[in-house]
Amino acid sequence: MSPLDEKLEPIYAEVLRRNAGELEFHQAVREVLSSIGLVIAKHPDYADQALIERLCEPERQIIFRVPWIDDKGQVQINRGFRVCFNSALGPYKGGLRFHPSVNLGIIKFLGFEQTFKNALTGMPIGGAKGGSDFDPKGRSEMEIMRFCQSFMTELYRHLGEYTDVPAGDIGVGQREIGYMFGQYKRITNRYESGVLTGKGLTWGGSQVRKEATGYGAVFFVEQMLKTRGLDFEGKKVVVSGSGNVAIYTIEKIQELGGRVIACSDSDGYVVEESGIDLDLLKEIKEVRRERISTYAKLRKDTADYVPKGRIWDVPCDIAMPCATQNELNGGDARKLVQNGVIAVGEGANMPCTPDAVQIFQEANVLFGPGKATNAGGVATSALEMQQNASRDSWTFEETEQRLATIMRQIHDRCAETAEEYGMPGNYVAGANIAGFIRVAEAMRALGVI
Ligand code: GLU
Repeated sequence: MSPLDEKLEPIYAEVLRRNAGELEFHQAVREVLSSIGLVIAKHPDYADQALIERLCEPERQIIFRVPWIDDKGQVQINRGFRVCFNSALGPYKGGLRFHPSVNLGIIKFLGFEQTFKNALTGMPIGGAKGGSDFDPKGRSEMEIMRFCQSFMTELYRHLGEYTDVPAGDIGVGQREIGYMFGQYKRITNRYESGVLTGKGLTWGGSQVRKEATGYGAVFFVEQMLKTRGLDFEGKKVVVSGSGNVAIYTIEKIQELGGRVIACSDSDGYVVEESGIDLDLLKEIKEVRRERISTYAKLRKDTADYVPKGRIWDVPCDIAMPCATQNELNGGDARKLVQNGVIAVGEGANMPCTPDAVQIFQEANVLFGPGKATNAGGVATSALEMQQNASRDSWTFEETEQRLATIMRQIHDRCAETAEEYGMPGNYVAGANIAGFIRVAEAMRALGVI
């Protein structure tokens, strides 16, 4: 990775010192700092009043115990987190992740990314992230409910539609949002719809929220392809993951005429050359909540299952990593480039390692960074907040139209900013710079707080 600007080097050194061992957070901060050297050169005043130091330090971090009782009557303890990163642009906004890998560093990296992502949407939302090291895998419905209730019993006091508005992320979907919303309502005695997003359609949710991250990521890649006179029609696509983001990425690609030939979970991947059967995938993942190996079992004549292994070995025109951070490394990137990949769009948060990103950029592969490409989810959360505030609800078509427009605007903002700073086609720099400028201007206006 390119060296940091000399003004930024000591700031990064302090981030390393103060957040020892939090590798993902270091990675996310370094990536943003490596893009903003040029902005500081052009507008030195953006670095005044320790603005960048403040941007790298969360406004507050909440860590709490989550005790709950499992089906055997035994008490279990998990750790809950909410890192409220930046509220210059609006109330804290960002998802909750329930996964055994969750720790403070992971939540900090996600909250930091979220701040720039949310700024890029152009909507009035600050950045935050939260979650727990709770592992929902293999837990019963009642265990999930008790966990969510206990989690919210502490978190509720820190939330509010004007304060902090969580949503889902890995391991947290509409079911979990429902249990948490129910507990919030019970404790506060308020039907405060705007306190959580990702709600169900009959209790304050928005059309298209479920589909939004995946659809939005595809809209973003569609715009990148367009800059080279290309589209999804007839393209072979590999989508990693098989959760909410992956499923609706696949759905939109299929609608646009692309052929998704592989997807995965943490145990392995499936390849089906004629195209993944989306109805079957939804049935297995959304209804039965089973593993991707079940897909291969049910389609044993047409699909292959590769336990473990690298999904990026599968030759494709377009790759969309939609599983988790650092799931695509330098070796994977080299393989994709060798196999002739033309575009990569990050549906997950920071799924490509820094060396992978560099390899794509050097090979002139269109590369859409997560903080721009996957911003459709949180943008639609902001649309959900808007509908809650006005006690209104819009149709699917209208909401999808708004999402498509927002994604086009994010794409153009990144492309124009990259161009303006002398790096045409570099969406990483464009996203970091455009997001930074929006947050920095608001922070300057609000003074040293
Ligand atoms: N967890 C999602 C993200 O990474 C959505 C956050 C939200 O809707 O608040 O952007």
